[in-house]
Amino acid sequence: MTHAAAQDTIRGPAVLGPGATIGVIGGGQLGRMLALDARRMGYRVVVLDPAPDAPAAAVADEHVAAAFDDPGAHMTLAARADVVTFEVEHVALDAARLAAARCPVRPGLAALAVCQHRAREKAFLMQHGFPVAPWREATSPAALAEAAGALGLPCVVKTPFAGYDGRGQVRVEHPGQLHAAAVGLDRGPLVVERVVPFAAELAALVARGLDGSVATYPVARTVHRDGILHEVSVPAELPDAVAARARSLGESIANALDLVGVLAVELFLLERGELLVNELAPRPHNSGHYTIDACVTSQFAQHVRAVCGLPLGATELLRPAAMVNLLGAHRGRVRLAGVEEALADPHVSLHVYGKAESWPGRKLGHITALGASADDARRRARAAAAALRWDPA
Ligand code: AMP
Repeated sequence: MTHAAAQDTIRGPAVLGPGATIGVIGGGQLGRMLALDARRMGYRVVVLDPAPDAPAAAVADEHVAAAFDDPGAHMTLAARADVVTFEVEHVALDAARLAAARCPVRPGLAALAVCQHRAREKAFLMQHGFPVAPWREATSPAALAEAAGALGLPCVVKTPFAGYDGRGQVRVEHPGQLHAAAVGLDRGPLVVERVVPFAAELAALVARGLDGSVATYPVARTVHRDGILHEVSVPAELPDAVAARARSLGESIANALDLVGVLAVELFLLERGELLVNELAPRPHNSGHYTIDACVTSQFAQHVRAVCGLPLGATELLRPAAMVNLLGAHRGRVRLAGVEEALADPHVSLHVYGKAESWPGRKLGHITALGASADDARRRARAAAAALRWDPA
């Protein structure tokens, strides 16, 4: 029996069927898509998010509108839920611990503690023998300069917390830029990484059940722009050995974390076929949105199955697919234009998150296109994305 399963026998029934309530910490687009699948399967959903108009709140049964570090809110969430999960890992651990005293939190707090902090995550990966880019932790401007000297320039300096979508990340090309990068020290020790000359970026998406069973999605090829995920396509059309290694890394990391739920492992593929782990997300992830339209079991339905102790669903790809994020360009209220043109291709599906406010780079929606091949799907997705734009409302 796994550690998580053992905990659960103490805490009540392992299997939560439809009618049970899932508490979700975080009410963004991931929480929204999770809630949509959970409700489709007959579960009740209660979302914790400070924003009154959080995207998930509109589709959840209940909304606890409170700060993520509000201990009382976590206790309220746990009191109303049979299991608590999260769509953001930047949750105050102490607050989440309060929820865990009342009902199961899946994935567990140990996985949350590792994945919410870059240095902890890298140390965990190294301890378990998983390959990462050369890195150092820096706690002072002098240590930052020393780390950059040891690793060589260019390097990337990352803040430990809240580092998603390229935020809290500075690329340092020459020593003169170190001073600006040191500003991030206000928020804790920095992670300094050598810039990896990757040939491609990949994502391995894995689900792990309460009984330790593992289901792995096809490896996806990802493209980032300015640190933000831009495009995902599957199949990744990799040599078999590389795909197998990526899948096995995902599975081994999920096992090492003793995780229950979905885990996304972002990878760098080097020229010679070597893989390095860039980042972990112990939850459904943007790189897995294509699974809604292109796989037997979406990553969100899979997460529900896992955290509710149900058997995992099939992960195979029904058709090659590509996803493109629809990012905001303006600040303020916006309206999506070009929808008719984009959807003139019947193999394109549109996902809009219902966010009241836009800002440059904010994820407001995505499209997924199915195609005869990954290349065909990418062409369709790019054409549809080019037809769409967010105009000021
Ligand atoms: P992260 O927030 O760490 O996932 O980084 C976002 C994106 O920035 C990655 O997907 C890469 O495209 C780029 N990036 C981050 N770290 C490195 C690195 N050490 N070398 C090269 N590119 C990087």
